Amino acid sequence: MDSMKVLVLEHSRLFQRMLTELLEELNCEVDCARSGMEGQAKLEEQHYNLILAGQHIFDESGMDFANYCNGQNVTCPIILLTSEPNEALLKNAKNAGITDIFPKSNFAYLQESLRYYIEGRTNIDIEGGRVAYVEDSRSVAHVVIRYLKKINLDVTHFSNAESALESILNDEYDLVITDIMLDGTMSGVSLVRMIRAHHSHVSDIPILAMTGHDDPQRRIKLYHAGINDYVTKPPIEEELAARVFNLITNKRLFDQVRSQQKALYEMAMKDQLTHCNNRHSLAEFAPKFIADALKFSSPLSMLILDLDHFKEINDQHGHTTGDEVLSKIGSLLMKLSNQGDCFVARIGGEEFAIMLPHCNAAVALVKAEDIRALIEELKPVGLVVTTSIGVASLAEHHQGDYDLLYTEADQAVYQSKQNGRNRVSHYDEADNSITDNTVINNH
Ligand code: GH3
Ligand code: MG
Ligand code: MG
Ligand code: MG
Repeated sequence: MDSMKVLVLEHSRLFQRMLTELLEELNCEVDCARSGMEGQAKLEEQHYNLILAGQHIFDESGMDFANYCNGQNVTCPIILLTSEPNEALLKNAKNAGITDIFPKSNFAYLQESLRYYIEGRTNIDIEGGRVAYVEDSRSVAHVVIRYLKKINLDVTHFSNAESALESILNDEYDLVITDIMLDGTMSGVSLVRMIRAHHSHVSDIPILAMTGHDDPQRRIKLYHAGINDYVTKPPIEEELAARVFNLITNKRLFDQVRSQQKALYEMAMKDQLTHCNNRHSLAEFAPKFIADALKFSSPLSMLILDLDHFKEINDQHGHTTGDEVLSKIGSLLMKLSNQGDCFVARIGGEEFAIMLPHCNAAVALVKAEDIRALIEELKPVGLVVTTSIGVASLAEHHQGDYDLLYTEADQAVYQSKQNGRNRVSHYDEADNSITDNTVINNH
C-alpha cells in the first residue's frame, strides 16, 4: 500500500513537529507549511491525499486560501484542527470544503482520531472472511464479487435464496449479502427471516441487503425482518468495503465475547485437575435432574465415591502423584459420563458424585459395582487405587429434596468405609437401613 501524502498547514513549529512525528509513525509522508500562501505553493507542486489545517489558515489569510481550495484546485479531504472554533472561521472552512473538524486542545484525543482516520482508511483487509452472496443478476454479481475479493474475502455466490439458505445453515460464514428480488420462489426478505428464525448461532450472522431501488418502505420492512445494514445497487466500492468491514469486525468481536463467556463458564463450572464438573455445577444441575425425574415419574439415583486411603498415596508417593491419580480417575469417570446419560462432578478432594437419571436402585447398584471394579483395575500411574461408593435413589420420602438424597448417599459411603472399603453400599429407603451391596455381590 502506497503511503499517504499529508500536507500540514500549521503556524506553530512545535505543533508541526508533533503532528509530523505522529503522521510518520502512521507511515505518512509529511510536508509542512506555515501559511495559506505557502500551502498553496505546495499544492501547486504536488498531489496530497490529506490536508491538516490549523485554524489560523482560515482565520487570517481569510478567504484567499478557502477560495483557492474551493476552486477545484484541491480534491483531497481537508481536516480542520481547532481548539476554539468561531463562526467566521467555520464559515471560511466550510467554504473551503473541509471534510472534518478535529479538536486540537487534547493532543492524546487528536492523536487517536488521526490514527483511526488514517489506519481505518487504509486497513480494509479482512483476512479469510467468508461471505455468502445471493444475487441473480450475473452482471451485478460479477462486479460485487470483484470488490469483495479485493478486500481478501472468500465469496460463495448463489443465484437463488433456496440454495443459499441450505449452505448458510450448514457452513460457517462471517456475512450474508443478499439481493431482495430473486429468481426462484424465495425472496431475499424470506431468506433473512428464515436465517433469523433458526435455532442455532447461525441466526446471529450479520446480513447486508442490497437492493435495486431505494424505497423507504421496503428498507423499513427489511430492517424489521432482521438485516443489519443496507446498500443500494450499484454499490459504491469504498462504501461497500467499509460496511462489510464493520459488519465482519462486529461479528468477530461478538464471537470473541461468546468464546470468552464459554471459557469463563467452563472455568466456573469445571474442575481444572480432573476436568469433571465441580461442586457448583452439581449444585446447579442436581435439582434440575430431580425436577425432571418428578415431572416424568422416572427414577433417579445418585452415587458418591470416596477414594480409599488416599492420604497414604500422597504420603507414600507425593502430592504430584496423588494429583495424577485424581486426574486419571476423573478421566475414567468423564469417559463413562460421555458414553451414557449421567453427570459426574468432583465434589471434594478425593470425592466424586454421579447423578444417574432414569436409573432405579437395582440399575444404579449394577453401575456402581461396575465403576468400583473399573477403578480397581485402572491402576493409575501403576498404583492400585480403590474406592468406596454409596448409592441412594430418589423416593417419595425425599419430597424432591436434593440435600436429603445427598445425605443418604453419603451415609452409604460411610457404611462402605466401615465395612472395609472398596465396596458399594446402598441406602435402603424402605427401612432406612444401609445394605452392603458388594458383599451381596459375593465380594
Ligand atoms: P478414607 O479411605 O477414609 O477415605 O481415607 P483417606 O485418606 O482417603 O481420607 P481422608 O479424608 O483422611 O484424606 C483425604 C486425602 O485426600 C487428604 C488430602 O491430602 C488428599 N487430597 C485432597 N485433595 C487432594 C488433591 O487435590 N490432590 C492430592 N494429591 N491430594 C488430595
Ligand atoms: Mg435480483
Ligand atoms: Mg474423603
Ligand atoms: Mg478417602
